[in-house]
Amino acid sequence: MLLLASGCAFLTNPPPVDSVGQVAPPRVVDTQAEELPEDPITLEGPTVILISIDGFAQRYWDQADMPALKGLASAGSRAESLQPVYPSKTFPNHYSQVTGLYPEHHGIVDNSFEDPVSGQDFDFDNKDPYFWLGEPIWITAERQGLNTATMFWPGSEVSFDGDRPRYYVPYDGSIPNRKRVDQVLEWLELSDEERPRFLTLYFSDVDHEGHSYGPESASVYRALEEVDESIERLVSGLEERALLDSVDILVVSDHGMEAFSQDKVAYIDDYVDLSTVQIYSWAQHMTLDAATPEGLPAVMEQLAQIPNVRCYTKEETPAYLHFSESERIRQAVCLPDEGWVISTHVYADDGEKYSSGATHGWDPTYASMQGIFVAHGPHIQQSYVHPTIEQVQLYNLMAELLGVDPANNDGDPKEVAELLR
Ligand code: AMP
Ligand code: ZN
Ligand code: ZN
Repeated sequence: MLLLASGCAFLTNPPPVDSVGQVAPPRVVDTQAEELPEDPITLEGPTVILISIDGFAQRYWDQADMPALKGLASAGSRAESLQPVYPSKTFPNHYSQVTGLYPEHHGIVDNSFEDPVSGQDFDFDNKDPYFWLGEPIWITAERQGLNTATMFWPGSEVSFDGDRPRYYVPYDGSIPNRKRVDQVLEWLELSDEERPRFLTLYFSDVDHEGHSYGPESASVYRALEEVDESIERLVSGLEERALLDSVDILVVSDHGMEAFSQDKVAYIDDYVDLSTVQIYSWAQHMTLDAATPEGLPAVMEQLAQIPNVRCYTKEETPAYLHFSESERIRQAVCLPDEGWVISTHVYADDGEKYSSGATHGWDPTYASMQGIFVAHGPHIQQSYVHPTIEQVQLYNLMAELLGVDPANNDGDPKEVAELLR
């Protein structure tokens, strides 16, 4: 008899679209009752587990006390860093990882934004298919006959013309990491016909502590240790089931983390008449329109005077940012230097706003914004360190590991070929 901890209500596909969250048969099982399956599990084909540790900056790697993750890296592969897409925020990056598309092509151009075309707002809870362009890897896999299961991922609750992961869990940050891991192990014990071949896991703790206490805080390193315990739980769970050598595991993060500083505030109102602009996002990633159609050239001239800030019209955004080809991108974007924020005297003069804490969203080539990449499994190169990888390359890598044909995307399979055995 198989009894594994779940604690999560998971949905099997296809649920009635209008009742997501209500159709879930809650499968809350006591963790103490965990038993291993009587017969060894034999996987039918390549199986991939994609794990995100939100906000795990590459800069934490050397100091992090993470024996489980570093064990996977030293037996398998890691990259010098995983470079985010612009803006270096959670939703644009997670969705680039699974689609191989830059935000200008997958449509999730920020964590939250107002769509200029429809006037609708996008935010973390938005599951409207209108916003989610491209084809995430779980949809590619499902459409080619593979079952998939998501233990959280941005976009995983969205219907793609009626297609979804066979199993998915509506986002609930209060579900303990341990239960998330146990859910993945439980899915791997399903019968051959039901077992997923692609699975995700997501941990937010490191990002959370980074925002609150800064990138070099003890709280961040404690959170890293705790996440490592979850990775250890997964690794030993796979070992106990004799699956560790049959499953390809990818561990990634979406972006790094950089501290604010009250000394690094660029005051836009010293240079620009705020009545001539409509500003949509502030601080480390600024987007704006001119208040009148003919006003943009004058606004750009004023913006060019702000020290420690680069501003571009949408058409002139440097190619490496891949941030122009979308109707959702505003007329101009401003990138402050590393650690700098754009603000106003009214907002930031109290001396408190940027005196502590940290964030991300800056230019993705900055050292502080780099994330991590670790891979381990039967198809992954052993004891190998790869040069920096871009988020958009992960989709082709996963398609190759799973043996499915990738949808059109912005990556190049050659960029990750060296990671494969
Ligand atoms: P960020 O500050 O951009 O790194 O965003 C991190 C936050 O995104 C997390 O703390 C969660 O609150 C939220 N988040 C992450 N994944 C999801 C998801 N799949 N659905 C809804 N919210 C999410
Ligand atoms: Zn994030
Ligand atoms: Zn964050």
